[in-house]
Amino acid sequence: MKFYRPLGTISAITFDLDDTLYDNRPVIRRTELESIAFVQNYHPALREFQVVDFQRLRQELRQEEPDIYHDVTEWRRRSVERALLNAGLSGDAATRGAREAMENFALWRSRIEIAPETHQALEALASKRPLVAITNGNADPQQFGLAKYFRFILRAGPDGRSKPFNDMYALAAQRLGIAHREILHVGDDLTTDVAGALRCGMQTCWINLRGGNLMHIDDSRLLPHLEISRLASLVTLI
Ligand SMILES: [Mg+2]
Repeated sequence: MKFYRPLGTISAITFDLDDTLYDNRPVIRRTELESIAFVQNYHPALREFQVVDFQRLRQELRQEEPDIYHDVTEWRRRSVERALLNAGLSGDAATRGAREAMENFALWRSRIEIAPETHQALEALASKRPLVAITNGNADPQQFGLAKYFRFILRAGPDGRSKPFNDMYALAAQRLGIAHREILHVGDDLTTDVAGALRCGMQTCWINLRGGNLMHIDDSRLLPHLEISRLASLVTLI
């Protein structure tokens, strides 16, 4: 554990999900493969549909609607819908197909293994402080056994703009009824988590699970209050 700024009172803890409480990389890889396979098998006209085609449609939508990226689920649904429309399906059929594709996506997206130490650490922390999850992603903690530790879960899109914007940080403080300065936000991303939470007055903990060096990372413009390499370190601190 490394300290970069003096810590104050910690009355609540907010957590990023992806790559903070589990390794999200294999989950995303598998989910993308399964999602593309679903689209390819959905209609003969899409047999040759590839990841690059999907990426192109996503970028096209982002250019037309610059704010769509805040809601990654809706962005994906619309991209699939557009792929189906481009393949010649009717509006209704494309909407139905996109809904089915998203149901398939959700299954794979939340098929996540949580390490026993993570359960232990969250259980211990939840017995001491209210915990909240704040995510830019679309994994559903209910599906992989983590929802029970959180008072509530905030999701970019339905709950505001994505981090590092302060929407969800402000909403968390408001719903907890706790001042920003008494909330510790824990996350792996130096921009969305550390800089975002610091700018709205929270204390921050950078979780460095891959042996990164804060002094040599390009996007480390603002120092967190502390750095940990295992979630369990927080249990001794709180
Ligand atoms: Mg993350």
